[in-house]
Amino acid sequence: MDDKSILLHVCCAPDATHSVKVLREQYKFNVYMYFHNPNIHPKEEYLKRYDSFLKLSKAWNIPIIEAPYNPEEWFKITELYKNEPEGGARCYICYKNNLFHTARKAKELGFSYFSTTLTISPHKNAKIINGIGNDVAKLFGVTYIAENFKKNDGFKKSIEYSKELGLYRQNYCGCIYSKIEAENKRKIKYANVSNHNHSDYR
Ligand code: SF4
Repeated sequence: MDDKSILLHVCCAPDATHSVKVLREQYKFNVYMYFHNPNIHPKEEYLKRYDSFLKLSKAWNIPIIEAPYNPEEWFKITELYKNEPEGGARCYICYKNNLFHTARKAKELGFSYFSTTLTISPHKNAKIINGIGNDVAKLFGVTYIAENFKKNDGFKKSIEYSKELGLYRQNYCGCIYSKIEAENKRKIKYANVSNHNHSDYR
């Protein structure tokens, strides 16, 4: 792998759009995308997001590295934290799991760099994610690119690109617990507001 290539952990295609643009245009990286997301539940939802990931790869000519889907392992490592609210300890473990596997794959394939699209979400704390990225980077001797892709209207731009490309946009973060939490929030919102629109999660 040449030293201008980066392995980018992609949590979903919409989040990858702007992130890939930044890494290509500002950093001049050759970006390879890695869809490692055992947190996504159920499998039908995983496949929908994966299809969208492939659609983006094709539309923007972004190479991909195949990743396994191992939800059983994810359920085991988050079991004790299933009642945590979104943004709590369960999410910390979830971020760490995805970043650990991305750093390990980067090392295995000879990439010098890796990063993640997770920081583009307004629901996620870039400082926490980047701290984990730097920690796992040390374990494998690779460099983590600590970006905050939501800056400079990054999230807004990702919505625009996604609309242009017709990418699927989910309405919950990914795991079964976030699905239930989002459904409950929508029920409360719908009960209070008679005239509402179905909005996406990110
Ligand atoms: S809410 Fe999102 S980040 Fe948190 S554990 Fe679930 S899938 Fe992972």
